[in-house]
Amino acid sequence: MADLKTHLLGHIAQHGPMRLSDYMAECLFHPAYGYYSTRDPLGTAGDFTTAPEISQMFGEMIGLSLAQSWMDQGQPGAFVLAELGPGRGTLMADILRATRAVPGFADAARVHLVEASPTLQQKQRALLGDAPVWHDRIDTLPNDLPVFAVANEFFDALPIRQFVRSGEMWCERLIGARDGGLVWGLGAPAPQPALAARLGDTREGDLVEHCPLAAPIVKALGARIAENSGAALLIDYGDWRSLGDTLQALSRHETADPLTAPGQADLTAHVDFEVLATATPSAHSRLTPQGVFLERLGITQRAQALAARMQGDTLTTHIAAHRRLTHPQEMGNLFKVLALFPKHAAPPPGCET
Ligand code: SAH
Repeated sequence: MADLKTHLLGHIAQHGPMRLSDYMAECLFHPAYGYYSTRDPLGTAGDFTTAPEISQMFGEMIGLSLAQSWMDQGQPGAFVLAELGPGRGTLMADILRATRAVPGFADAARVHLVEASPTLQQKQRALLGDAPVWHDRIDTLPNDLPVFAVANEFFDALPIRQFVRSGEMWCERLIGARDGGLVWGLGAPAPQPALAARLGDTREGDLVEHCPLAAPIVKALGARIAENSGAALLIDYGDWRSLGDTLQALSRHETADPLTAPGQADLTAHVDFEVLATATPSAHSRLTPQGVFLERLGITQRAQALAARMQGDTLTTHIAAHRRLTHPQEMGNLFKVLALFPKHAAPPPGCET
């Protein structure tokens, strides 16, 4: 812990206050001390739990939606089945299991995983074997085949910058040093062309967030789908347009101060889906709450079928998992799904235009 903090304090002493995006990138992916580079943060024993870790039903529904979309688009004989930020590999394992019954799908699928953490790449290899191809960034995904893709809680981990409106300009929130600790500060007002559209819907003192990697990543994925067909399901917490500070640090399932223990806590921010939808050259669906998406795909029928073979604690956990994934007061409304698909194709089941 002390090491990344010392490293960051040294950096600030030499170069001055840091952008939040640089801070997040160091905290999450510094090769020696980064949060994701050095550990598996998922699950009940870790810092946070994600939908695929809550229940196999999540991956099953995603698998069926992608497989139906593949059928709707004429069952291309070879395609890329891609995941961005696969974590432990659980979601991909569930997708592959759930689609085994779909004739031709498994034979046509070439699994490609985009994962920046060497530790998590190893976990994924342990679960999924050597057949997938790993990439540490999206640019190297094949661009000559249809792509059917999923990203769950991937965009929320991308570094953001934060700006406070000052007249027609913006002051960037920066991270500086005081008394041996990291502290927030504000940069001088400057124009921000990337935020031009936000001058219309904000007031003096409002805070807006900007994720520099989000649009280029969606553009790279959406261009492949627009040109070669396919579909993508982008699932994350967030909303159509973000306003206010959504930076969150999580450690051991509790919120933490983002500056206290750099590299020791997960750092995320809400995803601004408007930015993703605007960036894609493909068509996109309406933003759909996760609960609605999963219900449309039949998660309740699936839950009942599984429940028939369960009892005791297993059954109680299973019922709680279904509720957690779908209920509006749990993940059902906070998490949203945006689908990308070719202009002349139908959206993947579960999403609508
Ligand atoms: N999708 C998984 C894991 C979510 S955690 C699940 O739902 O359980 C975020 C995942 O994205 C991790 O695997 C993390 O290492 C990866 N990740 C975050 N930023 C990344 C980036 N810029 N490039 C590639 N992978 C990234």
